[in-house]
Amino acid sequence: MQTNPTTVRLELLIDNKAVPTNHYFEVRDPGKRSSLVAMVANGNAAHADQAVRAAHRAYLSWRDIPVARRIELILDAAQAVEAEASALAETLVREQGMLLADTRRDVANGVETLREIAAIAEDFLKPEQHEDGESLIQIHKAPRGVVAAIVPWNAPMGLTMAKVAPALVSGNTIVVKPSPFAPLAVSRALELIARFLPDGVVNVVHGDGEIGPALTRHPLVRKISFTGGIETGKAVMAAAAESVKNIGLELGGNDPAIVLDDAAPEEIVPHLIKRIFVRSGQVCYAVKRIYVPQSMYGAFFDTLCEAVDRLQVGYGLDPRATLAPVNNHNQFRHIRGLVDSARRDGAQVLELGGRLAPETWDEGYYLRPAVIGKVAPDAPVVVGEQFGPIIPVVPYGSEDEALRMANGTEHGLGSSIWTRDVDRGQALARRIEAGLTFINSHARTRLGDRHIPFGGVKQSGIGRVRTRIGLAEYIEHHTVSLDK
Ligand code: NAD
Repeated sequence: MQTNPTTVRLELLIDNKAVPTNHYFEVRDPGKRSSLVAMVANGNAAHADQAVRAAHRAYLSWRDIPVARRIELILDAAQAVEAEASALAETLVREQGMLLADTRRDVANGVETLREIAAIAEDFLKPEQHEDGESLIQIHKAPRGVVAAIVPWNAPMGLTMAKVAPALVSGNTIVVKPSPFAPLAVSRALELIARFLPDGVVNVVHGDGEIGPALTRHPLVRKISFTGGIETGKAVMAAAAESVKNIGLELGGNDPAIVLDDAAPEEIVPHLIKRIFVRSGQVCYAVKRIYVPQSMYGAFFDTLCEAVDRLQVGYGLDPRATLAPVNNHNQFRHIRGLVDSARRDGAQVLELGGRLAPETWDEGYYLRPAVIGKVAPDAPVVVGEQFGPIIPVVPYGSEDEALRMANGTEHGLGSSIWTRDVDRGQALARRIEAGLTFINSHARTRLGDRHIPFGGVKQSGIGRVRTRIGLAEYIEHHTVSLDK
């Protein structure tokens, strides 16, 4: 094993103590695979049990701490995470491979999420009350108990804090399992948060084997908040069924963007580019297929290709880079496979963009951004989630046909419509099967994220995160009725 002086050794965090294990797994830099970033404790079922029991012991007193005090502690913790934001963002680049600008945004998003949920919690958690001369009904918003939070690698800070914040403010305790492909920054942030809280309120376990399934099966876990792929989500749901746990699932997406015939390619392409290639396309809410009217297909395709060709692929800490490598070997192989199969099937495949360091290209999971034209609407690259720097462009004849194709997969996370006609856009938006539909943007609004409950329909998931709607997923309504 090749280690270097900066290789981190990361243990489990249970009851606010570092817990070593017998086996460790490697985390390598996706942009420089020869660099061993960390050795991480590989937990097993016994560690899952130890962490859940610690969280359960802590829950029995944390649930009685007044909401206002819980909020104060979370705000103090948010400040501590913010103070380390730069270091956390750099660590993320090394373990996760993304551009520094993106990892900074992820860290800022995590901190903001802690504050955003803290700001709405006190009002939200007040009991509802109905009273007349003879009876009093109070509906309390009680915590559920121990939450298991299972997180992917693609935006770990924001996604983890969107679980930690609502769980803790409402009186639950938590066991977090970060992804083996990006465990470091998020574990450091959770360690900082845990220092402000009683032992066992926040626990962190790691592993690429039995620990995930053991957590999702544990009888003392009352809620699972899972973000990841659809197939893993199904396994989590099956495990949760054994002891009827509450589950929240944020799963894969295949977001369509429908361009209407009154949109101008040169106006919308600069916006679309950002939402296709953000984080090298490794975002659940990235644009993953574009439907364009036959009449403007050529003009749109050329404008898109010109813009994609200006992207510069390089290492995440290289300030010239506008596209980073993908995160891991599976992703790399999956995207290469889609590109090759599209080419074999006769699609027009353009691999574009510049290579900033051709001499070290093969040392990382670097891929050139690809635009796929003349592609069948039911090709794997269109109907499956690519999760990489690749975008198929499909022509359509009528708006109904575009809608049919957009709704024609089992995904239903985000979507967008690009038009100058607001009424037409809004009417079409209501017919899209998705958790979110944006008009003239995608997954971002000028109003910011804090008003948006994120989540999907169909196989893209169950439940919503953020806002009061997301907070509601972490409580039980306990009705106490009194007849006087
Ligand atoms: P993944 O499903 O492979 O892994 C997610 C997490 O689940 C990891 O921590 C992994 O170790 C763990 N895990 C694996 N098997 C498990 C099991 N049987 N039981 C319990 N835990 C298990 O996903 P990934 O590759 O890390 O992330 C990419 C996927 O996540 C994409 O499909 C993407 O769309 C999705 N995602 C969705 C959202 C959303 O908000 N809907 C956000 C981000 C990512």
